[in-house]
Amino acid sequence: MLSVPLSVSIDAIDSLLPQTQCQRCGYADCRDYASALAAGEAEINRCPPGAEATRVSLAALLGRDPSSMPALADDVDAYAAEHVALIDEAACIGCAKCLPACPTDAIVGAAKRMHTVIEEDCTGCELCIIACPVDCISLVPHAGFASRAHLTLASREAQAGALRRAYTSHKARYAVRSEEGLSAMITTGTLSAKNQINAPDKKVLMAEILAKAKARITS
Ligand code: SF4
Ligand code: SF4
Ligand code: SF4
Repeated sequence: MLSVPLSVSIDAIDSLLPQTQCQRCGYADCRDYASALAAGEAEINRCPPGAEATRVSLAALLGRDPSSMPALADDVDAYAAEHVALIDEAACIGCAKCLPACPTDAIVGAAKRMHTVIEEDCTGCELCIIACPVDCISLVPHAGFASRAHLTLASREAQAGALRRAYTSHKARYAVRSEEGLSAMITTGTLSAKNQINAPDKKVLMAEILAKAKARITS
C-alpha cells in the first residue's frame, strides 16, 4: 500500500488525468484509476496518454519524491497519440459492437448500417478495434481535437473537459439502454434481436453526425 496524503481526493486526482478512458492503466476508466491511486493501490506511472505531464502532476499531488520519478510501467501498452480510428466501410458488417465500446461516442452508425468515425471526437484509444469482430478498423495519423497531444495540463484542459463530458453522456446513455434491454428481456423472456436499437436511415445518421459536430464546436 502506497502512502497518500489524507487531504487528496479522488476528484483532485481525476482532474489530472487526460480522460481518454482508454483502459491502458488496467482500470475501467480514468476515474477508476484515480480511485486506486487515492487508495494507495496503484503507482502514478500507468497512464500513457497522460505522459510525463500527468506523472509529474500526480507526483506533486501525492507527495512523491520528484527526484525518483518512475518511467511508464512495463506492463502498460503504448498509446499512439495523434492517431484516430478509420473504419473500412466496405468490410464493416454493421454489427454495432464498436458503439458501446467507444467512450466518447465518436462512432456513428446502427445495427446493419454503415459505421463512421467522427475524427475530431476520436482519441485513438483503440477500444473499438478490440471490439470489432471483423478487424475492419485501423488507426491512421490525425491530430484532431480529441487526439492531439498536449505537453502541459493547462493546454490539455479543454480537451480533457470535453472528453469527460462525452464519457459521462456515453455512460448515461448506455446505462439507460442496458436497463431498457433488461426490461425487454423480462417482458419477452428472451435475449432476441428485439433488444437492438432501431436502425436509423441515412438521413437520421447524417443529422446525428452534424448535431455532434455542432455540439463539439459550441461546447
Ligand atoms: S487515459 Fe490514463 S487514466 Fe485514463 S483510462 Fe487511459 S491510461 Fe487510464
Ligand atoms: S472511435 Fe475507436 S479509437 Fe476512436 S475514441 Fe472511439 S473507441 Fe477510441
Ligand atoms: S464493430 Fe466493426 S464490423 Fe461491427 S459495426 Fe463496428 S466497425 Fe463495423
